[in-house]
Amino acid sequence: MMKRLSLTELEKYIESIDTAEYAKTRNYIDGSTKLSEYISRGFISLPRVQELILKNNTKSSAFKLLSELSWREYWQHTWRVRGDEIFEYFRPLPFEPRSGLPTAVLEASTGIKALDEGIHQLYETGFIDNHMRMWLAGLVCNVAKCDWKIGAAWMHSYLIDGDFASNHLSWQWVAGSYTGKPYLPQQANINTYTETEQDDTYLNNTYAHIADMDVPDELNDLTKTLPAHKATMLHDTITIDEIHAAETVLLCSPWTLDPTWRSADTGQRVLVIPSDIYQEGAYSQHVLDSIQHFVQQIDELRICNLSDKQIKQLSPNTILRKDYPGIATWPGQVDGAELLQPNLPEKFYPSYSAYWKAIEKSQ
Ligand SMILES: Cc1cc2nc3c(=O)[nH]c(=O)nc-3n(C[C@H](O)[C@H](O)[C@H](O)COP(=O)(O)OP(=O)(O)OC[C@H]3O[C@@H](n4cnc5c(N)ncnc54)[C@H](O)[C@@H]3O)c2cc1C
Repeated sequence: MMKRLSLTELEKYIESIDTAEYAKTRNYIDGSTKLSEYISRGFISLPRVQELILKNNTKSSAFKLLSELSWREYWQHTWRVRGDEIFEYFRPLPFEPRSGLPTAVLEASTGIKALDEGIHQLYETGFIDNHMRMWLAGLVCNVAKCDWKIGAAWMHSYLIDGDFASNHLSWQWVAGSYTGKPYLPQQANINTYTETEQDDTYLNNTYAHIADMDVPDELNDLTKTLPAHKATMLHDTITIDEIHAAETVLLCSPWTLDPTWRSADTGQRVLVIPSDIYQEGAYSQHVLDSIQHFVQQIDELRICNLSDKQIKQLSPNTILRKDYPGIATWPGQVDGAELLQPNLPEKFYPSYSAYWKAIEKSQ
């Protein structure tokens, strides 16, 4: 993993990305930019990333990377439009999914060496590449035939770029409950993109066979409740009374940690950590360390852990905050998020290609 960067370092790094090279390597292990931790915490906006990328790359060579940035905005758009529905099945599956996560996934003992290594990497760093996420989700949902929700919760609890829209909607998409087409992991595909050569596995077959086969013995045993993480929560550095007393509160959430936002304004800067989500044991130490890094990048940002009920009781007249779909019910005057497509109608696009067509039409 790269060391965590300040905003100046991050911007320099983004300017140095060779987008033609990225297009060739993106689907291989370690072939992508690792920008997601910064983007998902709101540390840098998508338009700013796009602007920096286009300083040293043409639009056509950057097409692949820019379209991945659009995927991020597509999931955010879906969350904005569908709200809490993203946590439920958009459409039923043709089978009743089993409830629980394969114990072999939890213990990194699936028998697929590259995937087991990927799970170890997730535990040890809080990051895995997109392809690895897809294979693991495909294994859980479409080979072990399990409910995507517990898989999504498991992965999200480790990811330093954890975002409910990108994560939960991707799990739905892989499971087939988003577009209706399930995604399957296959050994030959895994071998190609992880540069491994394993062939003695239950995934070493055709896609048609993998789609129809019984759950392999290795994935039969299920764990119903995810184990709690041992991690040190971020402590309050300000009390709720101090927030109530402030004339102006510049309020951040764990997903709107933007060091440039209203940086010239005066007021009490507070990171409100929603304690209904960030409960004791719910997230790994990597996730909390990552948030702490971003806290340190914003001058005089204080921390307050508040329940949903307490957040809703904060005075809307004193609070300024940035928009993010997961905190739509938080009080205060809201500054819009910077978007790649600010003028797109607020409607549900049932697929990324439908979304893309709407973008082309709007230009
Ligand atoms: C099952 C599953 C769970 C996922 N969970 C998350 C999550 O919690 N948070 C998260 O940010 N991404 C998630 N993704 C999307 C994607 O895997 C990561 O954004 C990407 O792997 C991050 O690595 P990168 O920054 O090197 O990506 P790059 O390939 O370098 O892409 C650049 C940026 O584009 C965006 N992006 C790229 N691919 C996607 C995608 N498929 N969906 C949405 N945005 C994308 C990200 O912001 C990323 O930083 C998930 C994907 C799957 C299949």
